[in-house]
Amino acid sequence: AKRQGRGLVRVFTEAMDESIRLRRRIEDGLSHAITAGELKLHYQPIVARESLEITGFEALLRWQSPEYGTMSPALFIPIAEESNLIHDLGDWVLEAALETVKTWPGQYVSVNFSPRQFRRQNFVGQLVERVQRSGVAPNRVQIEITETAIFDDAERAADTLYRLRQMGFRIALDDFGTGYSSLTNIRKFALDCLKVDRSFIDGMGRERTSMAIVQSIVHLGRSLGLEVVAEGVETEAQVDTLRAAGCSHLQGYHLARPMPAEDALLLAERRFVR
Ligand code: C2E
Ligand code: CA
Ligand code: CA
Ligand code: CA
Repeated sequence: AKRQGRGLVRVFTEAMDESIRLRRRIEDGLSHAITAGELKLHYQPIVARESLEITGFEALLRWQSPEYGTMSPALFIPIAEESNLIHDLGDWVLEAALETVKTWPGQYVSVNFSPRQFRRQNFVGQLVERVQRSGVAPNRVQIEITETAIFDDAERAADTLYRLRQMGFRIALDDFGTGYSSLTNIRKFALDCLKVDRSFIDGMGRERTSMAIVQSIVHLGRSLGLEVVAEGVETEAQVDTLRAAGCSHLQGYHLARPMPAEDALLLAERRFVR
């Protein structure tokens, strides 16, 4: 038994080493991705629940790596987040999103910011400077942050959000319901929008708890005068349920998938997903 135990430890240690090496290689690849032109943004419509008019698009990062193929941001963003790479990636994303939103007739672009970007020194100053330089009005830029980004240092975060909102930016709390925040705590933050995490939309048809969570988020959002966006809407049945629950906006494959900028422009000009 002892021998076997040692063997397991060895296998485990080797697996750890292997995953650390892989991480390093990904980090290395990512650090060249910007200059090598391997990054691009896809855009996914966010629509009003009844009319299906497009109010905005979420910018989602894509990395076409020569070594790994198209890698999910769910995999490489956390790696970038653990190094300073996230700042270079984030800067690239913002520039690209600002260039694209300019071409649309009026919709906003919703940009994801990781906790480290949000907590960076002079985050507000740099953002304002870039947006001003681009000539895009702040109300056409939505900043998506997660609960994790704001609850660690709630006071500072509240101040940051307040300043951003004063300047006209839209603020969305992403993946809402998955973090540790108490629902009532969010009153402290200057927000425009709550995005209900996909896991709850997915669970609605199966579990009473998911449905109850969606309903309480919608209720909370409405009582605070916020938009409530349901993420990951995949079926017509979910659309019906979310309309009935009073969710104000929808996003998901059933409405439209994330798409290249050229296709997003055509949809933006048409104004409706269907
Ligand atoms: P997220 O911010 O929660 O983005 C929503 C994810 O759900 C996206 O995955 C989107 O493609 C996917 N999605 C949309 N509709 C549906 C649906 O109906 N069904 C299913 N199954 N999925 C749907 P994606 O593009 O792979 O991005 C994953 C995560 O990576 C994002 O989650 C976000 O946390 C992060 N991410 C993506 N782009 C950026 C970026 O530019 N900056 C930062 N910091 N993070 C990013
Ligand atoms: Ca998001
Ligand atoms: Ca989300
Ligand atoms: Ca998510």
